[in-house]
Amino acid sequence: MKVLVINCGSSSLKFQVIDAVTEELLAKGLCERIGIDGAITYENVKAGTGKESSTPAIPDHNEAIRLVIEALVNDKTGCIKSLDEIGAVGHRIVHGGESFTSSVVINDEVIAAIRECSDLAPLHNPANLIGVEACQKLMPGTPMVAVFDTAFHQTMPGKAYMYALPLHYYEDYKIRRYGFHGTSHSFVSKKAAEVAGRAYDDCRIIVCHLGNGASISAVMNGKCVDTSMGLTPLEGLIMGTRSGDLDPAIVEFIANKEGKTVSEVLNILNKKSGVLALSGNFSSDFRDLEGAYKKGDKNAILAVDAFAYRVAKYVGAYTAAMNGVDVIAFTAGIGENSPFVRGKVLQYLGYLGIDVDEAANASRGDVIQISKEGSKVAVYAIATNEELAIARETYALTK
Ligand code: ADP
Repeated sequence: MKVLVINCGSSSLKFQVIDAVTEELLAKGLCERIGIDGAITYENVKAGTGKESSTPAIPDHNEAIRLVIEALVNDKTGCIKSLDEIGAVGHRIVHGGESFTSSVVINDEVIAAIRECSDLAPLHNPANLIGVEACQKLMPGTPMVAVFDTAFHQTMPGKAYMYALPLHYYEDYKIRRYGFHGTSHSFVSKKAAEVAGRAYDDCRIIVCHLGNGASISAVMNGKCVDTSMGLTPLEGLIMGTRSGDLDPAIVEFIANKEGKTVSEVLNILNKKSGVLALSGNFSSDFRDLEGAYKKGDKNAILAVDAFAYRVAKYVGAYTAAMNGVDVIAFTAGIGENSPFVRGKVLQYLGYLGIDVDEAANASRGDVIQISKEGSKVAVYAIATNEELAIARETYALTK
């Protein structure tokens, strides 16, 4: 069975077609600048036809989905002959609130419940739903599955997810910590247990998902017990442009000093902070930061050191949360590709009995073991694959 995986944002739409039985990636692509002008890239990975790009007008998401389908069934470069070959569509949905603890087949009630969660993710959920509805129009009768970024973290206990605020904020508005990147934390923690030769349900794992957005999670005996992102993806680690944890009183302080509204300050915390800000607005990309660090640039050194220090502090906190740790996994853009940043984090973790294999840390691959044999904690870099995880969930619910 072939599964179409859709990750629909407000002005972009990423897609992949995966053979859910062999788990082979057949084709992938991206529609961008939806509602602005429009651009699509597409690649039939299986046939190896190379990447094609064009710039058709894409006024809305219906047109984007229509173009995706056109590319998939194209005579020369398509990966399927007819749309009937797509057995199901898996949609990434950012916020499932407390309503969804796992993936579900989409029906009218599910759509209504996702819409209710829009309050919690006003930029993401409405865009995700537009993708669902556009697919339903063009592929009526094909089952659709919603896979939530928040679902994996729903096993967190109250002591981890409650903010110490008046209780009615939770009761009336559902203000609590939810966590994100759940599909990645779930995929990577399972893979980490597997490569470490441990039983997933009898193992303590810390997953460091370090990308432009970054979060860390504690997975104990197969269940997420804590994660660093909160009500929104702003909490926790220092990120590319997000501040992560800070004293909430700073919001009012900046607003008063600069005559800004709360939303203006939050915009700064989301888009103009993080390593971008600490590096003196040099870059949010760790490839640039590493280069500048090695040339002795003071701001780049501060940005990278602060980033690694925050990750290491969370590892310490989550080790305490689980009364120990057996496996640590690095993943996402930085976690998978930067031996430099991994090394900076690991410098803090000698007390855990981690014995780092420097040569292994410098190597590349979908799974690399960074710790030496006999290290008290096994450390890996593991490539995440959220699309494959979505395809697996979609297949499991619709086969
Ligand atoms: P997101 O999905 O949150 O946009 P990714 O997981 O794709 O983020 O990670 C993107 C980040 O990964 C980039 O901003 C860059 O900092 C980092 N990155 C990618 N490749 C490398 C590399 N070779 N070395 C260091 N950092 C890298």
